[in-house]
Amino acid sequence: MPGCEGKSGLPDRRLPAAVRGFMEPEEGERLYELALEAGRRGPCLEIGGFCGKSTLYLGSGCRDAGGILYSIDHHRGSEEHQPGEEYFDPALWDPRLGRVNSFTEFIRTVERGGLTETVVPIVSASATAARSWATPLSLVLIDGGHSYAAAFADYNGWAGHLMPGGFLAIHDIFSNPEAGGQAPRQIYKLAAGSGLFRRLPMTGSLGVLQRRAIGETPV
Ligand code: MG
Repeated sequence: MPGCEGKSGLPDRRLPAAVRGFMEPEEGERLYELALEAGRRGPCLEIGGFCGKSTLYLGSGCRDAGGILYSIDHHRGSEEHQPGEEYFDPALWDPRLGRVNSFTEFIRTVERGGLTETVVPIVSASATAARSWATPLSLVLIDGGHSYAAAFADYNGWAGHLMPGGFLAIHDIFSNPEAGGQAPRQIYKLAAGSGLFRRLPMTGSLGVLQRRAIGETPV
């Protein structure tokens, strides 16, 4: 029902500001612009939807482009969200499941953003969802687990599905190790050094690369 969808354009800043998670408005607005362009060419996909902050930006861009956003997350929380850890949030503890569960918050965000006809949630580990994936993608955002093993698995499982001209966005790239873990920066450097992508300007800690066309010579 298209009439149930929200109005077009960027989400009102108050909406993502009220959602748990870590993403600066400027980074989110860059994701909106990328999804607006990419969404016309094919489906977009994000890894690490969590409570839906990045989903609001990417999903709004996809909606305005007439596109679609797959949002992958196991919704069990990352290492740092578990009980006793630094970012444990009791509001995300699900007593019926006996574990962290961010899916209820995620769906609430998608509905508030008017994105139910645009966002397709995939409740799964990224590596499981990648196992038999075969659909070319116009944009991939890697914003999942921040261990090197998790970030590398996300890069390895999804970057190869980008169509020529598709965007690879990687969140939480910090050159100073004291500002944050280094795994996202390591996969960014891996992608940039592969010759398969061209670097686009960064926004905050959001790195963006674009898949070169087949036959295009790296400069
Ligand atoms: Mg992040």
